[in-house]
Amino acid sequence: MTTLLSRSPMLFTLGDVLSSPLPSIFRSFSARSFPTRTAYLLGIGSNGRAIARQTGGVKLAQPISQWIIFMARKMLVDGVLDKVGEETKQYDFDLFVIGAGSGGVRASRTSAAFGAKVAICELPFHPISSEVIGGVGGTCVIRGCVPKKILVYGSEFRGEFEDSRNFGWEIDGKINFNWKKLLHNKTQEITRLNGIYMRLLSNAGVTMIEGEGKLIDAHTVEITEPDGTTKKHSAKHILIATGSRAQRANIPGKELAITSDEALSLEELPKRVVILGAGYIALEFASIWQGMGAEVDVFYRKELPLRGFDDEMRAVVAKNLEGRGIRLHPGTNLTELRKSEDGISVLTDHGDEFTADVVLFATGRVPNTKRLNLQSVGVELDNAGAIKVDEYSCTSVPNIWAVGDVTNRMNLTPVALMEGTCFSKTVFGGQPTKPDYADIPCAVFWLFAVVSDVISWNSLVPHLPVPVHTLFLVAVLKHHFGLPPLSIVGLSEQQALEQAKNDILVYTSSFNPMKNTISGRQEKTVMKLVVDSETDKVLGASMCGPDAPEIMQGIAVALKCGATKAQFDSTVGIHPSAAEEFVTMRTLTRRVAAGTKPKTNL
Ligand SMILES: Cc1cc2nc3c(=O)[nH]c(=O)nc-3n(C[C@H](O)[C@H](O)[C@H](O)COP(=O)(O)OP(=O)(O)OC[C@H]3O[C@@H](n4cnc5c(N)ncnc54)[C@H](O)[C@@H]3O)c2cc1C
Repeated sequence: MTTLLSRSPMLFTLGDVLSSPLPSIFRSFSARSFPTRTAYLLGIGSNGRAIARQTGGVKLAQPISQWIIFMARKMLVDGVLDKVGEETKQYDFDLFVIGAGSGGVRASRTSAAFGAKVAICELPFHPISSEVIGGVGGTCVIRGCVPKKILVYGSEFRGEFEDSRNFGWEIDGKINFNWKKLLHNKTQEITRLNGIYMRLLSNAGVTMIEGEGKLIDAHTVEITEPDGTTKKHSAKHILIATGSRAQRANIPGKELAITSDEALSLEELPKRVVILGAGYIALEFASIWQGMGAEVDVFYRKELPLRGFDDEMRAVVAKNLEGRGIRLHPGTNLTELRKSEDGISVLTDHGDEFTADVVLFATGRVPNTKRLNLQSVGVELDNAGAIKVDEYSCTSVPNIWAVGDVTNRMNLTPVALMEGTCFSKTVFGGQPTKPDYADIPCAVFWLFAVVSDVISWNSLVPHLPVPVHTLFLVAVLKHHFGLPPLSIVGLSEQQALEQAKNDILVYTSSFNPMKNTISGRQEKTVMKLVVDSETDKVLGASMCGPDAPEIMQGIAVALKCGATKAQFDSTVGIHPSAAEEFVTMRTLTRRVAAGTKPKTNL
């Protein structure tokens, strides 16, 4: 059978077509439906082909099964499947996205690929963000993952120069490092990427609008363009993907501090740094600046840095940070910053005073929801100001959705991408899909260069590479003492024990990587597997060692597939590699009873 479908109520069957003079049907069809590209032909028989030929514009389904799937999706987009009696409204767009960062760009492109008519708005571009400054590409591209990765690439050469000597390379003379050149090239690259993202959107058929978006009602977005003019656009669905921004601790003198935005664009390298916070961003910058010769003091409330990572690994990290000269101040808060002749005076709640050239606040980020007029439209926020969503990323208003950092679920680029894709599949793909937060791997990347007489201090530029799934930390270590990247997937030992019904088996391995035997670098690689004693399922894995993020991405696939320890053991290793250790950890390090506290043998 051949069926012609168009936006409701124009629905034609083969019977209609055959009993009417074709030209008249197609005239009305063309006028009403072709401009919005909502007329389709189902059927691949000779009748279908004939009709397609005569209309010239009607698409022919082939094969029919794919066409039916496409039509089901398209009808969702076009409103053909709206509830009976519901008024069919015409909107400017099927989807309007506010914020062109990781989540917004992904959701726009995938929704457009499903046939939706999409528009997206984004603030004007600049490396340092504000309430009215942003840029297509968002935090990851402009002031997060990507600039970090560029700086890390720059710094990686440092350790390589050192290690190369015992492999026979002879480097004569002084090797200089030009910080300003690296910064300039970093800015050029993020500008180029900003252009690429705009082209990606335009090639996908997405309408790009520069300006600040806010909601007027459940179907209307108002854009304030850079010159101050405002325009309204209506959409059937609205997606909020406005991300988050660094926040300053609310203490007197807070305006004297900087955030990670400015830290990635500092013109001069500081000599004395105070950092508030001990998450991955805080420690990244601690490592960068310490590696460049600055004195670094890190203040934080908890006992150990890097909340959320395996406690045993956190203790290793804290020891190594202190071992290379970063002063850690656990259980300490800052109470005031004052401008002094010598820089910034920093007062703590322990009554101490420090002087710094730069004070970095790395105390977390707040969702960008303040200026969106959400409450008046009925979109509910949580106590932290994040948008409340259900498992499909739908807000308290049924046609308004939110993905990425603005929902404060798991604030990582790949997670925002996943949520964007799931949104499109659910709303425009006819495949309701929930983001899956299990076994998401991440890493903290410590880079290290070795202080030597040949390479001067100002040649050190440690930084943070960030492939899609990773957080990176940089460390510059003295005298061949280094801290390799830390990467984790699945449950930490303490999470496993909290959730466990059975005892937990812990396997650890600590060894000197093969490359170090020649280079002379003193660093241990540490690996850990956490296994359920009854099911034999591997619940979590962590690694601190060279290439840890690259290796853990593969381990993450295994965990996602529910791999058991026996399957790890029966996997043949790649030799010689560090990764093979994950499949040769045969000796149990310890058995920990469910409900008890984690232990350490490292
Ligand atoms: C220093 C740093 C390092 C990081 N490193 C890593 C890492 O190594 N790996 C990792 O996975 N993640 C990392 N992240 C986190 C990652 O960058 C974020 O999780 C990710 O960018 C979130 O994507 P998003 O789409 O939710 O928001 P964003 O990418 O922030 O995009 C939101 C966009 O919305 C725009 N916007 C806001 N309000 C409006 C408005 N009213 N109108 C129009 N546009 C608006 C903003 O300008 C912005 O471009 C890092 C973050 C930082 C700050």
